[in-house]
Amino acid sequence: MSTLYDTEHLKRSDAANILHPASVVADVSNNGPARIFVEGKGAFITDTDGNRMLDGVGGLWCMNIGYGRTEIGDAMKAASDQMGYFHTFAGASNPAQIGLAEKLMAKMPDHITKVFFGSSGSDANDTLMKIVWYYNGLRGKPEKRKIIARKQAYHGTTIATASLTGLASFHRNFGLPIPEVKHTSLPHYYREAKPGETEEQFSARLANELESLIIAEGPETVGAFIAEPIMGAGGVITPPKGYFKAVQAVLKKHDILFICDEVVCGYGRTGHWFGHQLYDIRPDMIATAKGLTSGYFPMSAAFISDDIWKVLHDGSATLGAFAHGFTYSGHPVGAAVALANLAIIEGENLVANSAETGAYLHAQLNDTFGHHAHIGEVRGVGLLGALQLMADRDTKTGFDLKHKIAARCAAAIGNHGVIVRPLPTADSLAFSPPLTLDRGEANQMVDAIKKGIDQVM
Ligand code: PLP
Repeated sequence: MSTLYDTEHLKRSDAANILHPASVVADVSNNGPARIFVEGKGAFITDTDGNRMLDGVGGLWCMNIGYGRTEIGDAMKAASDQMGYFHTFAGASNPAQIGLAEKLMAKMPDHITKVFFGSSGSDANDTLMKIVWYYNGLRGKPEKRKIIARKQAYHGTTIATASLTGLASFHRNFGLPIPEVKHTSLPHYYREAKPGETEEQFSARLANELESLIIAEGPETVGAFIAEPIMGAGGVITPPKGYFKAVQAVLKKHDILFICDEVVCGYGRTGHWFGHQLYDIRPDMIATAKGLTSGYFPMSAAFISDDIWKVLHDGSATLGAFAHGFTYSGHPVGAAVALANLAIIEGENLVANSAETGAYLHAQLNDTFGHHAHIGEVRGVGLLGALQLMADRDTKTGFDLKHKIAARCAAAIGNHGVIVRPLPTADSLAFSPPLTLDRGEANQMVDAIKKGIDQVM
């Protein structure tokens, strides 16, 4: 491997030419990228120096079927050879997006009846936000525009979706959030509940807080609430008991739509096809991306309910075209990739494997870290989880974030051959490996995580 690539040259060239996303600009431009990956198979990826690592994060929470699946390349080539591209504006279509829509709709709850295709999780949420505005305008409620998101959540990086994202670093220096976006509390029972408060009481308190925010803003100005079933990049926060039931009651009372962001949770990640199935969420709109194509093609699918659809449908007479769409909406190559990806997930029972191997991985992590002085909580469902780092587990004291313990632990774990994702705001280590993970690979993850953490703390 190392003979094929001149790593130093590649690093210099990268540093000279590329503005990296979500990276400290001077670090990459002074030192070059940390690693350059060139090959992957199953859960493993290999860099230009021949280092092979178990990718415990599945890229950016998206590599559901595992690396190097030639079936995807075959589907991509066939679709590209056949036509390559044509747009879907002005009613144009292609068989791949038609087949994909049919396939996806069969997995959706009955009241969700239409899908809009885009290219990223951000554009899916952006699209849904615009549909909230469009829909409410058509209903004669154009002032019902505000969207309530949760603190610490991640929903994307466009102007609108970076606003939904509840992380200060995505607002600071960009003049965000936009005025239409408000944030409510994070439902992290372990860190945010008051002493003696039960999960149900905590959930009721947060639902009351949400309602107070809605009333303070004016219910006639609030169009939607957006939440992930399990908050991913915000810390893999699983909702406390009764949370979504209580929240949905508030939303219903004030005629506010629920946008369910399934960009991380969708397509088997939690051991269910979609995260909303776990928590009895009845979403009005659903955003998906990532696992839709397992990252092999940039593609998103945003879904809306029949009630919303009917308003859009009836509004056509007055509005003319739904003036929203992307050059790559319903891309025939992307749709072919998504279909091949879903065929692998189904054919190899990867949703069931996510549940089973996920339960095994969580059990091993609980055995290993259940009494660890610096791990407060092992949380998650299926092959999605996180470890909460704590300075003192007994007194529930967190680390000073300036010590960057999560990043240091992730680097140490990386030196033992496993990639985990440090989440600095949540001071947690997250994992979301390919859904093909087996028990041996799960053991390898636990072993490396233990060794890395013990080296740092
Ligand atoms: N929503 C969630 C829950 C995400 O985790 C992400 C990305 O990590 C996004 C939306 C944005 O997706 P993208 O990076 O494809 O724009």
